[in-house]
Amino acid sequence: MCGIVGFVGNENCTDILVEALKRLEYRGYDSAGIAVFENEKIKTVKAKGKINDGLVQKLGTVGKPDGCCGIAHTRWATHGEPSDVNSHPLGNERVSIVHNGIIENYREIKAFLQSKGYTFESETDTETVAKLLDYYFKGDPIEAIISTMNEIRGAYALGILFRDCPDKIFAIRKESPLIIGKGENCNFIASDMTAILDYTREYYLLEQNEIAVISSDEIEFSDIHRMSIEKELKIADWDAEAAKKGGYEHFMLKEIHEQPEVVGKTISARIKDGLPSLEECGVTDEMLCSYKNIYIVGCGSAMHAGIVGKYVIEDIARTPVIVDIASEFRYRNPLVTADDLVIIISQSGETADTLEALKYAKRVGADTLAVVNVVGSSIAREANRVMYTLAGPEISVCSTKAYAVQIALMYVIAFRLAYAKKTITEDECRKLTQELLTVPENIQKCIDNTEIYQYVASNLVNAESLLYIGRGLDYALSMEGSLKLKEISYIHSESYAAGELKHGTISLISDGVPVIAVATQRNLFEKTQSNVKEVKSRGAKVVMVCHEETEVDKTCVDFKIGLPTISDLLMPLITVVPLQLIAYYTSVLRGNDVDMPRNLAKSVTVE
Ligand code: GLU
Repeated sequence: MCGIVGFVGNENCTDILVEALKRLEYRGYDSAGIAVFENEKIKTVKAKGKINDGLVQKLGTVGKPDGCCGIAHTRWATHGEPSDVNSHPLGNERVSIVHNGIIENYREIKAFLQSKGYTFESETDTETVAKLLDYYFKGDPIEAIISTMNEIRGAYALGILFRDCPDKIFAIRKESPLIIGKGENCNFIASDMTAILDYTREYYLLEQNEIAVISSDEIEFSDIHRMSIEKELKIADWDAEAAKKGGYEHFMLKEIHEQPEVVGKTISARIKDGLPSLEECGVTDEMLCSYKNIYIVGCGSAMHAGIVGKYVIEDIARTPVIVDIASEFRYRNPLVTADDLVIIISQSGETADTLEALKYAKRVGADTLAVVNVVGSSIAREANRVMYTLAGPEISVCSTKAYAVQIALMYVIAFRLAYAKKTITEDECRKLTQELLTVPENIQKCIDNTEIYQYVASNLVNAESLLYIGRGLDYALSMEGSLKLKEISYIHSESYAAGELKHGTISLISDGVPVIAVATQRNLFEKTQSNVKEVKSRGAKVVMVCHEETEVDKTCVDFKIGLPTISDLLMPLITVVPLQLIAYYTSVLRGNDVDMPRNLAKSVTVE
């Protein structure tokens, strides 16, 4: 949530900061601002709204600050409504900060500072930190930072300017991510690499409770006791083009189109001699056989990927799988023990709820495996083991390719587990693995059916509400389809196990209510079709997603979306495509901002 960027170098930085902010806008977009040193004074410009509507317009009116050192922020409000005054940077003429996260004890700090004569103009938690830094600043910025870090509780990544140090940016973090980029005659701070890929691929990861002091030619790190720290310089393997739209109208569409490639990459990197391999994360067959239960924990689409994982693992490997919503997991006193494996799924690797769930699992002694996309992210580093999904940067807030590669890894894990436990033979495992490699070309075939999805979307565009139904793996997919649609089209939708409808939800069906029935599991097809008949008799307009060759009863299905035929077990990997594209075109037709849907932000770093 929220994007932070900072630049210090030998050239004017306002345009650099604004461009970098635009690359971070997917992390938060209710307001944006910059603070730049101009003639040794901190000049701040900030505005409510998206960067182009708010900040850029305002810079046009008030003028661009002229200086070579500055910080910038795009906000996802947690404390105080989106407004000019609540936008970051916050502080006063002596200290200015940008903040990602939440300060839990901000009320106490505010009361304390008020008793010392400080006044506050915003409703944010952030302003209290800026003023606490000011209170503690007696000429030594590090001293002020350490005193402040000792007082504040919560999650934060902070970029800080002190008026008395006009050629330096100070940065600290706890829980929220921050990297320090090393450029040519310039250096950066950033929430993630995508912001600065145009300038550099070299970076340092700021660790918990570390302090960085950045000038144009030097980056210094120390801990909270002022002990200096040597850090390893890392090189990002994402290139600048990967974080751009590349001719597509939206990032979401680009990312859907990237799925054949990234799913192919993610799968083939895990196949050794025709069999799936978990060697890279040190999980042996012996260990796989020893896990009593598998917990899969995630949020949103990542959690839905876990549900696909559950169906597949339980079906072919016969190990019990419990899927948990990360924000529920550690508060429900789960039965997880040291005999279990906990798989943690997160695109960003920074999802706060998921990170906390991981820490909980580690505390009880469970083995932990992270399935994440961002290399070196908090979850990747915290887990005992990690398998990276090789999706490249996902910019659209609505996740598509990240989900696809997450489920791809669920199959790899399930197949190896089944092979290790001998619930499938080696021959069966080889066949399944071979078929997994054909998935990318079948994803492509699904993507190529654009007109069908546009047609379906044109029929959904005025709906007030709709239902996604399915059984088994199709139910798992229905959840993801429904989430995609509501996220970006703002149409209310629910997913339901098809057989469960008649126990209550069918009362929502009235004349013309669209129902998307996912029916790719041929052993369940007759049952699902009966459920479709039930909704059709009550007036529903039914779209059925099934195998191309499946004969549907035209009296109960208004429109069929036929998919290439692969094994039913693998169908989720391609079935997701029509569901993504239907959501996409519905959102486009409704004139919504597809990549930055209202109220949402990517990389949810608050609990
Ligand atoms: N808690 C801060 C605020 O509401 C920062 C939110 C963010 O991470 O964007 O302003």
